[in-house]
Amino acid sequence: MGENQQAEKEEFFQPVGQAAEEVDHEQVPENGNDGIRLTGAEDAQGHPVQEIDSLCMKCHETGVSRLLLTSIPYFREIVVISFECPHCGFKNSEIQSASTIAEKGSRYMLKIENKEDFNRQVVKSEYCTCKFIELDIEIPAKRGQLTTVEGLLSEMVQDLELDQPQRKEVQPEIYEKIEQFLAKIRSVLNGETGLPLTFLIDDPSGNSWIEYVPGEPQHKWSVVEYNRTPQQNVMLGLVSADEVAAHEQEQQEQQSQRVRATGFMSDETDIENFANESLIFLTSRT
Ligand SMILES: [Zn+2]
Repeated sequence: MGENQQAEKEEFFQPVGQAAEEVDHEQVPENGNDGIRLTGAEDAQGHPVQEIDSLCMKCHETGVSRLLLTSIPYFREIVVISFECPHCGFKNSEIQSASTIAEKGSRYMLKIENKEDFNRQVVKSEYCTCKFIELDIEIPAKRGQLTTVEGLLSEMVQDLELDQPQRKEVQPEIYEKIEQFLAKIRSVLNGETGLPLTFLIDDPSGNSWIEYVPGEPQHKWSVVEYNRTPQQNVMLGLVSADEVAAHEQEQQEQQSQRVRATGFMSDETDIENFANESLIFLTSRT
C-alpha cells in the first residue's frame, strides 16, 4: 500500500470538516431561487460548497447546512450535509448517497482494540444497522450519517441521558440499569475496559462503509458483499412484494412440472437457489 493512497486519504478527511467550517461568513452569498447559496468555497476536489438555512433540531433556531459532494477513498462519492447552529453550537453530518443502490449488500467488521480505533470514520446509510457485539448493542437503521465509531456510541449515550431525569421519577429501577449501562459505555470509550470490541455494520443497499487503514493486520477489518434476499429488495423499493410472490409461485410451478416430467424430485432448484442467493465472497483490499 503506497504512500500516495495514504496522502490522498488524509487530504480527504481534512477537507470535509474544514472546507465546511472554513466558509467565510462575511462573504455576500449569491441567493438562488431555492435558497441555496454558493459560498465560493471548494473542497479539495474542486466541488463547490453550498449553504442553506435550516432549522436546528436542538434549539429550533435557524442554523446553516452546508452541502458538499465528496469522494471517499476506497469507497465512493457521497453528499455530506454538515449542519451547524450558531445559537446552541449543535453540529452534525448527515449523508445522502450520490450513487444509486449498489448491486450487492455489504457487511463490514472492525476490531476495536484501542482508543484510536474509535476515531474511525463511518458512513452509515439510512438502511444500515450497526452492532457492538460484546456490548450487546444494536443501532437500528435510521437517517444517513457521516460519523465515527465514537460518534455512534456518544449519540446513543446522549439520547439515553436525555430521558434519565424523567426515568428517575417514573421508573427508578430502569433508571439504575441505564446508569450502569452508561457508565460501562463511557469506560469503554475511554479505552479503560471492554476491549477488544467487535463492531459490525450491515447494509443491504451496499452504501455504508467503515474506514479502512492500509497495511493493518487482517483480523482488524473486513468486508463481505452479499446478494440481497427478495425481502430486502422489497425493503429497498427495488421490487414490489407482489413481484416477489409471483416469482416464487413461478418457481414452485416449474418445480412441480419437473417432478411430473421426471417422476422424482430433483434438488437442482435448491442448487440454483444456493448459487443465486447465498454466494458470499470476501474482497481483499490490502
Ligand atoms: Zn441550535
